[in-house]
Amino acid sequence: MSKRAYNFNAGPAALPLEVLEKAQKEFVEYQGIGMSIMEISHRSSQYEQLNDETQSLLKELFAIPDGYKIMFLQGGASTQFAMIPMNLLKPGKVARFVHTGSWAEKAIKEAQLFGETAVAASSEADKFNRIPDVSNLQLDANTAYLHVTSNETIEGSQYQQYPDTGSIPLIGDMSSDILSRPVDVSKFAMIYAGAQKNLGPSGVTVVIMREDLLNDLPKNISTMLRYEIQAKNNSLYNTPPVYSVYMVNLVLKWIKENGGLAAMEKRNREKTDLIYQAIDNSNGFYRGVVDPGSRSIMNITFRLQDEELEKKFVKESEQAGFVGLKGHRSVGGLRASTYNAVPYEACKALADFMADFQKRNS
Ligand SMILES: *Cc1c(COP(=O)(O)O)cnc(C)c1O
Repeated sequence: MSKRAYNFNAGPAALPLEVLEKAQKEFVEYQGIGMSIMEISHRSSQYEQLNDETQSLLKELFAIPDGYKIMFLQGGASTQFAMIPMNLLKPGKVARFVHTGSWAEKAIKEAQLFGETAVAASSEADKFNRIPDVSNLQLDANTAYLHVTSNETIEGSQYQQYPDTGSIPLIGDMSSDILSRPVDVSKFAMIYAGAQKNLGPSGVTVVIMREDLLNDLPKNISTMLRYEIQAKNNSLYNTPPVYSVYMVNLVLKWIKENGGLAAMEKRNREKTDLIYQAIDNSNGFYRGVVDPGSRSIMNITFRLQDEELEKKFVKESEQAGFVGLKGHRSVGGLRASTYNAVPYEACKALADFMADFQKRNS
């Protein structure tokens, strides 16, 4: 087999090699049915079984308590930015947000189209270099829900502790860190994630919703955008993204075979320690963008002295077989995305490359 790149893409991102190989084996013929999974009805017993099994695997791995519905929707996490206020933000209520960076901002802007919003905590004054302190949030009783962005993919920050919102629904965008570590799902009324960072390919968005949220939802919105309809129909109201769900199924099995979420977290910490150490031990040659207390184990953001040197880093890293290290165009700098599927060896190679690049350029 040809050599695989050291893939640090932010999303769509690396998939486990074992998953790709398994999918390749089953590509033309799925489990002896004489066809691929893409060529059969989504009402077939085979797809219904895949749909159900994928939900059970997610429930088991993420330790989702009873009383939650799992949905596989389309339109990406970005469509959730609209569906959430359309369904859950009633007149007289306020959607509150913790503003942590680029993705939180998109969620806020979209909600503003549908109702009243407010920022409950923000790190904007510090250029989003950390997750603000949310240990003592005072939320007015008129709060429809509090929305947090668990991991800011572009800035490189991640919650170490989620706020306690009591009876107010807590909603988490976990697009870029779902299944990277164990989470107490019971703290959340809803969790959602576009699949293409840590769960599989693009095309499917996982929504985990506490069942009581599905009561009394407005009926005068587009049928496809109603959680109630999607939940009642087991995500089969219309044709689902069959192949994407199939790939998520394989990724979940891969996580299970590799020890589940505790093992994922351990591995992710070992991987990112290598790179954060390369930054911290560089005598200021590399500068981490995010406060150590808010550092992400999924997206590592760092800078060099000037943009020229950053360009050189990107160019030479590409020549050395690394992909995706350029920071997001909106913030510049460098970013290494170290999702579950990125192997330890790739992170080790990057840490070595960083040390070598420093030696040659200081
Ligand atoms: C990528 C990302 C999104 C947007 O996902 P799409 O599926 O492309 O709409 C939203 N939130 C976070 C945290 C992300 O990383």
